[in-house]
Amino acid sequence: MKITRISVFQVDLPLEHPYWLSGGRLKFETLDATFVKVETDEGFIGWGEGTPWGHTYVPAHGPGLRAGLETMAIFILGLDPRKVLDVERAMDTALPGHLYAKSPIDMACWDIAGQAAGLPIADLMGGGSRTPRPIASSVGAKTVTETRDVLQRYRDRGYVAHSVKIGGDVDRDIARIRDVEANRPAEEVILYDVNRGWTRQQALQVMRACESLNVTFEQPCETLDDIAALRPLHSAPVSVDESLVTLQDAARIARESLAEVFGIKLNRVGGLTKAARMRDIALAHGIDMFVMATGGSVLADAEALHLAATIPDAHCRAVWACQDMLTIEIAGGRGPRNQNGYLHLPEAPGLGVHPDEDALGAPMAVYS
Ligand code: MG
Repeated sequence: MKITRISVFQVDLPLEHPYWLSGGRLKFETLDATFVKVETDEGFIGWGEGTPWGHTYVPAHGPGLRAGLETMAIFILGLDPRKVLDVERAMDTALPGHLYAKSPIDMACWDIAGQAAGLPIADLMGGGSRTPRPIASSVGAKTVTETRDVLQRYRDRGYVAHSVKIGGDVDRDIARIRDVEANRPAEEVILYDVNRGWTRQQALQVMRACESLNVTFEQPCETLDDIAALRPLHSAPVSVDESLVTLQDAARIARESLAEVFGIKLNRVGGLTKAARMRDIALAHGIDMFVMATGGSVLADAEALHLAATIPDAHCRAVWACQDMLTIEIAGGRGPRNQNGYLHLPEAPGLGVHPDEDALGAPMAVYS
């Protein structure tokens, strides 16, 4: 089987509610999504998606992703998409780094490999759990009252896992954490996501003030060096996502015991092939996982769900899904959807969902 054509589509995905990170420093209203259609000489068609979270969040953006695809396309055409390691090496040779540009191709190849094998991607990767995965909500940085309101909005839709965005004013962050914890149902999974918003001093102040609550802080500071420096000074569990980019990062976090949780962002780390290695490092070191696409439609959420299904139930805390935050629908309601706060693994071979091409408009580039 050979890849014969790669079509690239760009779609703006508006967010239903404007979204702030880190105390209002960053505001997001629309995500720049790239969809990739990979065709083969045997009739199999795979789809991939790469949707960075805007261009101010991490070093990734829509135009860069599409430029990366343009550079890599001639190295990918003619390869067998079922041989995902061959495709991975071809992309890494053609364009070192730029992982976020590679993930949609990797996703489309896994989609084709699954269809060719007659298996959902998770099963092709070795076996997918059918235990539904809780979806983590995304509660943007707000006041105490607004935090309560947004949490309730998600609870009304069945959500039992939440990523509460903090990382702004220290006193307000402490007040919000205490209020959420005082009112949380016991069964809920809550992560306090700082999105790198604190200095070391600010992080220590909040982590110590909330020590008795034993809450998990995600990405409290900018770098792994910051997180390492704070580690002996507090006892709070830590999750790392934005600083978990390469396998070397994963190895360092595990070896130096920098976190209890990996937040694996598939677009950020370069797709399922690379993320599966991080999963194995986590499992070998007793580290739990959150899995997320980074952003995007049901396609990106489906990819995250497949990886999450390959994690033993006890070590998969939740998946984060973006689809419920968007105002446009590109797959006609198909694919894994929020069912009372959970996503269920699709049983169809491959990814389990393809977009409506009409909803994507004309391709902005075709390579063949
Ligand atoms: Mg995060």
